[in-house]
Amino acid sequence: MTEFRRTKIVATLGPASESPEMLDKLIGAGVNVVRLNFSHGTPDEHRQRAINVRTAAKKHGVCVGILADMQGPKIRCGKFKTGKTMLTPGQKFILDGAMSLDDGNDERVGLTYKELVGDVEPGARLLLNDGLIVMDVDQVVDQEIHCTVVIGGVLSNNKGINRAGGGLSAEALTEKDKEDIKTACAIGVDYIAISFPRHGADMDYARSLVRAEGSNAGLIAKVERAEAVEPENLTSIMEASDVVMVARGDLGVEIGDASVPPVQKRILREAPKHNTPVIVATQMMESMCENPIPTRAEVNDVANAVIDGTDAIMLSGETAAGKYPLEAVQAMHRTCIETEKQRVLPSSATRDPRFPPHSVDECIARQAMETSHMMPITAIAAFTHSGNTVLYMSRHLTRVPIYALTPSAETAGRVTLFRNVIPKPISEEYGEKDAPQATRDGIAVMLYDHLVKDDDLVIMTLGTPMGKAGGTNAMKIIRVGEVFNR
Ligand code: PGA
Ligand code: MN
Repeated sequence: MTEFRRTKIVATLGPASESPEMLDKLIGAGVNVVRLNFSHGTPDEHRQRAINVRTAAKKHGVCVGILADMQGPKIRCGKFKTGKTMLTPGQKFILDGAMSLDDGNDERVGLTYKELVGDVEPGARLLLNDGLIVMDVDQVVDQEIHCTVVIGGVLSNNKGINRAGGGLSAEALTEKDKEDIKTACAIGVDYIAISFPRHGADMDYARSLVRAEGSNAGLIAKVERAEAVEPENLTSIMEASDVVMVARGDLGVEIGDASVPPVQKRILREAPKHNTPVIVATQMMESMCENPIPTRAEVNDVANAVIDGTDAIMLSGETAAGKYPLEAVQAMHRTCIETEKQRVLPSSATRDPRFPPHSVDECIARQAMETSHMMPITAIAAFTHSGNTVLYMSRHLTRVPIYALTPSAETAGRVTLFRNVIPKPISEEYGEKDAPQATRDGIAVMLYDHLVKDDDLVIMTLGTPMGKAGGTNAMKIIRVGEVFNR
């Protein structure tokens, strides 16, 4: 067993990590959630990956969440006849909405999103290949965007295109995304991530599509568009989403790299006010695509996200296509462990006590966290159907681990992303008068896994009478041995 880590690790699957052998190693090394990237691969491939993940998780006796990431309206150039072209500063180049998608040459290339033509005007700046190539728009002629190259380089097939400062009209959900949502729901994923939402309404719409498929998957908003970080939109996105992701790749291209750190910090500060967990993503251990150890700067980046109270950190290319997927997970793991030991508990990552709880269960959750600071508590055991109680608890920083005792497989999958929460599936559905039995069972589960000892104090929360969702209304402090009259 790896040492208990509070911050969760999300690993993107791809050629470097999807074999059953590597999945076994990654889950053994403590990956909490895997990300299926729907920008690549077929429905059958995603289905098979999910099966392999569940098999490996079962073998290790852990819950691993599955996150399906939708491609969204990522605008790309077409392909080149020769695979690529070399662009030099000052050169003219045409993005041609009328050209076929595989006919690109040294003068022009096709576009996956024809409407781009209507979204730009002379003077607009376009960033290609994650900002490595820059061109300014001179004029728009019919379906052709005439540009001058500002920063050159090799432009190869299917590279992404962003507009500096945002302002593209593309809807957050494409026809492909709508099909992929159906696939993801059929696979039974725990989370669906929506790319490039502009505001909360985009997330509401995505949620309606997911629910129409009969899925209860959580909705993740990838914050990666200039519009999305305008204060009003960011607030509505947090309110409409179960989790937000700081998607620093596209975000950095749209708002400029220097603006990403303050935005990341702002999101981590604002999210607890809305009880919204956060994933920090992209290039966290980027150099490990090629090297077995991270740079000092990367270790610092991970540590700072942990200090600022993120729920999860994500690996993308590092585990999908890198040379050292296992080492990347291990590097994140040890960085989190050390940082969590040192962490001064900052009040900024804690839900502001001036915000009144919205409900009885949030009230109990907050009291449990308060109490965990007052007594030498070893663990918090929360009976939860919906997962809400542990969501509320985990918005507050504490050194005491929170065990989510839940009969719902859905909820166990959902809480895999929450900082400091460990899913513990329990088989019983308790009835009205079963609280004493549930108490004994809950403690027994933790004893069985060597999480607590006879002398330990445990905080337990539950809803009485038992067996009703959303009903946490009680907290008790238990001496483990006394439950069994030892
Ligand atoms: P992507 O999203 O990897 O799907 O592009 C993350 C990001 O843009 O940072
Ligand atoms: Mn992105």
